[in-house]
Amino acid sequence: MAGETAAGRTGDVGSPASDDAAESALSLAAIRAQFPLLSRTIHGRPLVYLDNAATTQKPAAVLHAVDAYYRESNANVHRGLHFLSEAASAAYEGAREEVCRFLNARSAAEIVFTRGTTEAVNLVAQSWGRRHLGPGDAVLLSTFEHHSNLVPWQMICEECGAALRVIPLTGEGELDLEAVPRLLDGSVRLVAVAHVSNALGALLPVREVVALAHERNIPVLVDGAQAVPHLQVDVQDLGCDFYAFSGHTVDGPTGIGVLYGRGERLEAMPPWQGGGEMIRSVRFEGSTYAAPPHRFEAGTPNIGGAVGLAAALRFLGGLPHAAMARHEQGLLNQAARRLAAIPGVSLIGGTAPRIGALSFVLDGVHPHDLGTFLDQEGVAIRAGHHCAQPLLHSLGLTATARASVAVYNTAAEITALTEGVERARRFFAG
Ligand code: PMP
Repeated sequence: MAGETAAGRTGDVGSPASDDAAESALSLAAIRAQFPLLSRTIHGRPLVYLDNAATTQKPAAVLHAVDAYYRESNANVHRGLHFLSEAASAAYEGAREEVCRFLNARSAAEIVFTRGTTEAVNLVAQSWGRRHLGPGDAVLLSTFEHHSNLVPWQMICEECGAALRVIPLTGEGELDLEAVPRLLDGSVRLVAVAHVSNALGALLPVREVVALAHERNIPVLVDGAQAVPHLQVDVQDLGCDFYAFSGHTVDGPTGIGVLYGRGERLEAMPPWQGGGEMIRSVRFEGSTYAAPPHRFEAGTPNIGGAVGLAAALRFLGGLPHAAMARHEQGLLNQAARRLAAIPGVSLIGGTAPRIGALSFVLDGVHPHDLGTFLDQEGVAIRAGHHCAQPLLHSLGLTATARASVAVYNTAAEITALTEGVERARRFFAG
């Protein structure tokens, strides 16, 4: 697992952290002050925002970058010869360079801007999948997948006559990694797995999966939507062929995301959407296409979103990563310890390290009712199937409550959560 998490590198995933020490090492008050929305009240209570896996709040640096772009540099990219178009193009391509550095990709040409993780996976399914999948072929997923890394594969497999194959859970609810070599038989053309499960926060051993797949010359796509906000992701170190993430779970704007694709892979892929920006030349008789990444970015892109994403990555990159990982781990450990001590609460998930999120259920109380009760106290969590219905079904559940943290959360907020759950237990029991 080395190289996947800063906490992993220092060997302390899962160990209890000193909340006070981690919070002061981070200057938590100063970090919180940079997120304007955190200071608002909800139902007359201070907001306790623990729904970060759904989307994070945005720091002033991101709000300012987007605002400044539209106020000072707005124009369309690439085609214009005038000053503002060049400024907008430089901002957009500069954002691509920022993402390239953030993921440690070899070249900015390996970074395709998309609307988010969902569109990134659809791009690979439609472009790579249509060219490489046929009857008798299979795509291997894990039971942990978000619908975004499942339904696009179902759709393309159906169209091409290929099949889905799934890494199952063990009886203990762990991903059955021992099954992977057997599942990777001659029919598997691609492996597509989450780096971190959004529903459970479980970390998947992506490097091991990549190694097993690559021994058999099978490419691997990693859904990093829940990993990038918490881990230092290095796509060269992971060795994956594709890596997808969304801007909005990493302090950036909605509507912008990234597909990293290894250069040789993107070069060999056909476009998936046609239009402006993605062509080299167009005649009625036929068209030729631009090189990657522009081949995959038809139409006017989300320039302001890319600028905001770059600001978010700079903001995140400016935080001391080891202290941040220790702090987030400390919050999850605190939540797990205190929730587990509440009668009737069960934590969901096996022994895999938890990254960013924690799922639980309270006996006799539907997670939606628990979520609504906590909302009245100003505590925002998520309740439901978390777009991972097959996973919940495999666990014999239809819904869980999920608390998910970001660097700006505090030990006091975790206490607000756990005391709220305790009050909910008494309320619904009584
Ligand atoms: N994969 C995972 C693991 C997710 O948590 C999410 C949702 N944030 C997605 C994919 C889809 O992301 P988006 O809705 O931003 O495209």
